Amino acid sequence: MTVKLFYKDVYLTSFETTIIKKDYDESHRPYVLLNETAFYPTGGGQPHDTGKINDINVLDVVEVEGELRHYVESLPLHENKAFCCINWERRFDHMQQHAGQHILSAAFENTFGYKTISFHLGKDICTIDLEISDIKEIELNQIEAECNAVIRGNKPIMTKWITEEELSEYTLRKKLSVREHIRLVIIPDFDYNGCGGTHPKSTGEVSSLKIISWEKHKSHIRIQFVCGNRVLGLLHDKNKVIMVLTSKLNAPQEKMIEAADRLLENNKELHSKIEELTSQLIQYEAKSLSLEGQHINGVKLISTIYNHRSIKELQNIAREIVAKENDHIVILISDNQDKLQLVIARSEDVNLNLQLLLNEVLPAINGKGGGKPSFVQGGGDKLLTAAELLQRFVNVITN
Ligand SMILES: [Zn+2]
Repeated sequence: MTVKLFYKDVYLTSFETTIIKKDYDESHRPYVLLNETAFYPTGGGQPHDTGKINDINVLDVVEVEGELRHYVESLPLHENKAFCCINWERRFDHMQQHAGQHILSAAFENTFGYKTISFHLGKDICTIDLEISDIKEIELNQIEAECNAVIRGNKPIMTKWITEEELSEYTLRKKLSVREHIRLVIIPDFDYNGCGGTHPKSTGEVSSLKIISWEKHKSHIRIQFVCGNRVLGLLHDKNKVIMVLTSKLNAPQEKMIEAADRLLENNKELHSKIEELTSQLIQYEAKSLSLEGQHINGVKLISTIYNHRSIKELQNIAREIVAKENDHIVILISDNQDKLQLVIARSEDVNLNLQLLLNEVLPAINGKGGGKPSFVQGGGDKLLTAAELLQRFVNVITN
């Protein structure tokens, strides 16, 4: 079995050892086994370490059936000596988040009796799920302050291997998932917990803990938080956004919500003004169109070809005309690059089924459409020009 150096010295970043096996797994991924290792394998909610073995990238570290596999980009051939270094920035970040989680979970449990049922250490943020269905902001603020007091207190974070028999001497925060190789992580007078992960030697190294938000997740409460350098990273990102918004909105941070509200209100007013003006424009267009047109078989036919107009606008213009005039048929076509779209409407007293008209003409442009006998819309490919399509409709109506 590989000796786990991270349990002897969690700050060990480089080491020399021997390679005891080089192999490929069932998915043909190359891996090596080392005599001893400082690479932490994925487990206990903590992601694996990365780094290099003989200058070859270590991509993943997993414990499989007692083998602590270091998955590498390629196998280091002809060598049995291994010079290893781990990516310390990544590992120390994990140590900060992991220890921060112990502190956060212990604070919730000690202060309010809220149990943590799961923990996730994500790439950007960490979460714990609490076994409660609701939480108040004032409770979150209190816990965050308590956690940061524990961090400032720079309490030792100790680890201890114990046997199952010795367990009775401790009150643990959560039930153990193992019965042998029991490792306790202890923050004296604050938290006693079984854990196989990596943590710094004192709470001060966690630096700070910030609760970002909370949400209901299934029947539980999920708390999002970050620790250590991630707090600074988060502050940096948020500060950048605020600075850009300050200049865009011409408002300092404390007036920013007000400024955004004013913009949204203004936008709403503009939107309703546009709607009003569009509706006026359409009435005007409809009026001007009804002055044109030709009389055929006792009806007045009005037709126009537009470029790039929406079917909704065509509908509104057509509706406006036939609602105000008797004996009218309106054909409006919009030429939209490779598509033709159209609306046909008639006054109530005109005896013509527009659905039948549509069905007769639309196949010429591979078109589709529908509606009711007095009002239809449709469209298709530009296999004819808009003028040719219009003429086909006129032909059917006049014959
Ligand atoms: Zn832990």
